[in-house]
Amino acid sequence: MKSISSAYIHVPFCSQICYYCDFAKVLIEGQPVDDYVDELIKEFNFYNIKNLRTIYIGGGTPTTLSPEQMFRLISGISENLDLSVLEEFTVEANPGDLSDEMISVLASSPVNRISLGVQSFDDHLLKKIGRKHRAIDVYKSLEKLHRAGFVNVTIDLIYGLPNQTMEMVKADVAKFLELDLPHIALYSLILEDHTRFMNMQRSGLLHLPSDDKNADMYEYIMQTLSEKGYVHYEISNFSRPGYESKHNLTYWDNSEYFGFGAGASGYINGVRYKNHGPVHHYLEAAIDKKAIYEEVLGKKEKMEEEMFLGLRKAEGVLLKNFSKKFAIDFNEIYGEVLEKLLKTDLVIFDGERLSLSERGFELGNEVFEMFLLDR
Ligand code: SF4
Repeated sequence: MKSISSAYIHVPFCSQICYYCDFAKVLIEGQPVDDYVDELIKEFNFYNIKNLRTIYIGGGTPTTLSPEQMFRLISGISENLDLSVLEEFTVEANPGDLSDEMISVLASSPVNRISLGVQSFDDHLLKKIGRKHRAIDVYKSLEKLHRAGFVNVTIDLIYGLPNQTMEMVKADVAKFLELDLPHIALYSLILEDHTRFMNMQRSGLLHLPSDDKNADMYEYIMQTLSEKGYVHYEISNFSRPGYESKHNLTYWDNSEYFGFGAGASGYINGVRYKNHGPVHHYLEAAIDKKAIYEEVLGKKEKMEEEMFLGLRKAEGVLLKNFSKKFAIDFNEIYGEVLEKLLKTDLVIFDGERLSLSERGFELGNEVFEMFLLDR
């Protein structure tokens, strides 16, 4: 196995189901959580991992685990690791779930980054999208985290929510700026199948901002955050210099990573795989360590992914790196695409590096599609 330096660990439990969510998740009530934590540790240790640069425990909602379960999970996966090479260990948290006990477990562990699912500071909106926490919980959680010594804290916000106006987006961004945090991810609401929002949309009950309004919101966000010194380093992510998410950069750099847990995806030895989910299927399948799906990536798929993922980053793709990685001249593969793109305002090209322009960030999918190769 090639050296893999990142691991994603999925905790699928939630204490509520948000109306927009299509992630691999389940309500925690009645779930075999202890068995699940045991299995996660077993799955992790099966690979005999000694060195990781980044670990990310995401969900679901990892902080629905009890402090004891969280302690067991973190200790179980880190006991054989050389912690001196671990640079970033993130845990996702819901603002309402961060008890003093949970914070003390996290603070006395190798965890050094917390990702808080804030989504909005507007209580009315939070209720409308099915979130349990309120803005006051965000402030309380942040205060506790800071008191416990956590500096590297990021929050998620969503824009383009039902009946959300530009003024409401401005208010959310202003509240984020007041907090002076080093990182934020902002996502546009995407309607997904099998969600309450999709059902409401089909019944005509959901009033979402138009595409134009959404684009205006994104432009406002990009402009305001960059004026305030945040680096827009990936389509949806902004950070103070040095606080970019090292773990997520693994994905955008198209590097390999382990994925552990129910429904988790990973990328090992040129194979993208997805574990069984939901929880019971994961526990059953764990016995023979089978994934639900495995795709051995050919060179074409790898080259496409290199472009889709690389162009998500502001730094884009260095063409000579592409040529070296795939032992082929970039222009031979994508010369025509490059020529077409240079006639638009979607990309920036300095002769060596290709990246998205601001407009390209808004219309990323149009650009990515152009890098699909005939198979
Ligand atoms: S958005 Fe997060 S908290 Fe809400 S249901 Fe999905 S995974 Fe759970």
